[in-house]
Amino acid sequence: AEEVEESLRSPICCIMGHVDSGKTKLLDCIRGTNVQEGEAGGITQQIGATYFPAGNIRERTKELNADAKLKVPGLLVIDTPGHEPFTNLRSRGSNLCDLAILVVDIMRGLEPQTLESLNLLRRRNVKFIVALNKVDRLYGWKKSKNAPLMKTMKQQLGYVVDEFNKRVEQVKTQFQEQGLNSMLNYENREMGETISIIPTSAISGEGIPDLLLLLVQWAQKTMVEKLTYVDKVQCTVLEVKVIEGHGITVDVVLVNGVLREGDQIVVCGSQGPIVTTIRSLLTPYPMNETRVKGTYMAHREVKAAQCIKIAAQGLEHAIAGTALHVIGPNEDMEEAKKNVMEDIESVMKRIDKSGEGVYVQASTLGSLEALLEFLKSSDVKVPVSGIGIGPVHKKDIMKAGIMLEKKEEFATILAFDVKITAEARELADKKGVKIFCDDTIYRLFNKFKSYIEGIKE
Ligand code: GDP
Ligand code: MG
Repeated sequence: AEEVEESLRSPICCIMGHVDSGKTKLLDCIRGTNVQEGEAGGITQQIGATYFPAGNIRERTKELNADAKLKVPGLLVIDTPGHEPFTNLRSRGSNLCDLAILVVDIMRGLEPQTLESLNLLRRRNVKFIVALNKVDRLYGWKKSKNAPLMKTMKQQLGYVVDEFNKRVEQVKTQFQEQGLNSMLNYENREMGETISIIPTSAISGEGIPDLLLLLVQWAQKTMVEKLTYVDKVQCTVLEVKVIEGHGITVDVVLVNGVLREGDQIVVCGSQGPIVTTIRSLLTPYPMNETRVKGTYMAHREVKAAQCIKIAAQGLEHAIAGTALHVIGPNEDMEEAKKNVMEDIESVMKRIDKSGEGVYVQASTLGSLEALLEFLKSSDVKVPVSGIGIGPVHKKDIMKAGIMLEKKEEFATILAFDVKITAEARELADKKGVKIFCDDTIYRLFNKFKSYIEGIKE
């Protein structure tokens, strides 16, 4: 029997870091062992997320003898790649991600996307811990499957420990250069002030018990208020996707409240508010159900915190990164429609009033917002005169083209992680509108920066 406190919901945790640092593998490792040992214990692979129930976390951390009283029902880890899930986990500019794991490869230290993740986390004021991954790659490392860190460290030879310490110091220095104090978790007595570094291996599972325990204990110690479950639905659209047999669906994170089949919902759309009815609430089958692989399981209702796929009519123009609202029995529909559109309007307000600036296009509202935040805080001032969400079309080139007469160097589209249609590309060439595109913010910005600096010279 679970000794879970009814009043708390599961913390929502994002996993971030440079490509190949081991984000996916870490989650595989946490999931895999349990399945392998026949204790799947209800771990479910959600849509772009994994739900780890408290019982499972307890099992996985028992060697630490922490006798942890788990008050949260579990941990919901969002594991879609890239920054998008993180940036889309927002509501009215505030963050819905409770905490994050920043994965750093011990052999490589802080890399460009590590810094980008780090800056996002700091700007959004999200607490995080560092998983210093791939410790098993240290020369001479003796593996000890799924062992807590202290246990595994005791087994290592002197020169391995020296190498380990050297690399940890290097990473600490790199964090220091970013203005952050960090420390190995077992030495850190002031969590929060000082970032905890937890050495891990996603291959041998070493350090995973420490990681899980720290996440849960830290959350329930410092975030009780934020994690107190409330009935009022708080839900955000992570992604809009086409799924065979279900048409256009939206993947959402339900942070609070309950969603039910048949609920009437309002979602922010690029062509105005979308009012529709939930046809199905879907999650993949539990991982041990191999017979039905690839299909979804429908639910009558789902309680927070969970990640769910919603099928409903009319979702084609839904915008990721906006709130999903459930219409209550006595609620005014017009009011609700106005409310959901406020999400995008708040971002619209960031456009430069002078009317002079570049055109910025991103895949979702969340990533657009992240890019705008970055441009605002960057060393080169980049005014923005227009924004768009989704692929770059001819109409966007037309809008960016307005600058050709006002301020030519701003007749530019910064396309963040979006496709550019062939016609748009053609029109841009013809008109002389520059398009810069990239799937990371800092590279996109650098491309634009060198262009502007080139002009000035
Ligand atoms: P992601 O891009 O951050 O999701 O990285 P992946 O999880 O896909 O891992 C990238 C590569 O590093 C894969 O080949 C993994 O097998 C490998 N890898 C990840 N974690 C570890 C680890 O702890 N030890 C070792 N030796 N290899 C790892
Ligand atoms: Mg990955």
